[in-house]
Amino acid sequence: MKDTVFELAILGSGSAGNSALITTENCRILVDIGFSARQICQRLGALGVAPDSLDAILLTHEHGDHTSGLDVFSRKFKVPIYCNRLTAEALRGQGVATNAPWTIFCTGSSFTIRDLDVQTFYVPHDAVDPVGFIASSGYGSIGFLTDLGFATKLVHERIREVHTLLVETNHDERKLQDDPKRPWSVKQRILSRHGHLSNHAAATLVANIAGDCLERVILGHLSRDCNTQELALGEMERLGLDRLELFCAQQHEVSPRFSIGRTLPVITDQDDLVKIAEQIDPVAYHQAKHYHAQYTLNLQWDAI
Ligand SMILES: [Zn+2]
Ligand SMILES: [Zn+2]
Repeated sequence: MKDTVFELAILGSGSAGNSALITTENCRILVDIGFSARQICQRLGALGVAPDSLDAILLTHEHGDHTSGLDVFSRKFKVPIYCNRLTAEALRGQGVATNAPWTIFCTGSSFTIRDLDVQTFYVPHDAVDPVGFIASSGYGSIGFLTDLGFATKLVHERIREVHTLLVETNHDERKLQDDPKRPWSVKQRILSRHGHLSNHAAATLVANIAGDCLERVILGHLSRDCNTQELALGEMERLGLDRLELFCAQQHEVSPRFSIGRTLPVITDQDDLVKIAEQIDPVAYHQAKHYHAQYTLNLQWDAI
C-alpha cells in the first residue's frame, strides 16, 4: 500500500488567535483563520504551503480569534469557506468575505472535501452556532474541540474514537479567580457552560475518553493571563494522561507537523503480525499472505 499523508500542524493557538492546517494526499484545509491574512501566509510559508493551494477553510464559530483573517485572506485567495448558516450570516452581516465562495453545512452533518471526511457536532459556547469537527482520512482521525464551556455527552461520544485530539485548556481556575484585570462578569462568562474549558475540565474529558484509540492530545487556546503551559500539561499528568503524547500549542509559534494514524505496535511474533494484519486490512492481507517473508521484513502497515 502506498504511503498516505495525513498530517496536522497548528499555525497558532491561544486567546489571541487560532488556526490549524490539515494535509492529506489530496487536500489542504485550514480549520479557523484567527490571525491576520499576512500572519496566516507567513505561517503557511513556514510549513511550505502556498495560500492559494488551500482547498477549504472550515470555521468552528464566528468569534474574532477564529476568523479575524478571513475577510482580507478571502479577498486575495478564492478559497471556499465552510461553516453553518448562522455563522455565515453573523460574519456576512458584518461585511466579512461577502464575495467569497461559501459552502453551508448543517450542524450535526457530515461531508467530504476531496479525501477528507468531516463530521460536525454542536458544542456549548457563547457564539451563534458553534461546532466541533472530526476530520478523518484513511486510518486516522483528528478531533477539534476548542471553545466550549462544557463537555456534553454528545461531545464525549463524538470524540471517543479519534487518534489525535486538539482540546482547549483555556485557564487554570485559581489563576482566573485571582486575575485582577478581569471583571467578575467576564470571569462568570468564561467559567459558565457557554464559556471555556479549564485545565481540569479538559483533563477530565480526556481521561473519560482515553481508550484504545487516542494517541495524542494537543492542548490549545491557553489564556495568556490565566494559564501556563506547565499548569495545563501538569493537570493532564496529574490525571495519568502522560502515557499519551502531549503537546501544548503556542500562540506565536507554528507546531511541528503531526502524522495522524495508528502507532505501530512492537511485534515480535509472526502469528501476532498475521492476526493484526488481517484485522487492519483483510483484503490486502489475503493478497499478501503468500509473501510473508516480504512483509515480515517490512514491519510497516504501509508495506502490507
Ligand atoms: Zn469563541
Ligand atoms: Zn476562541
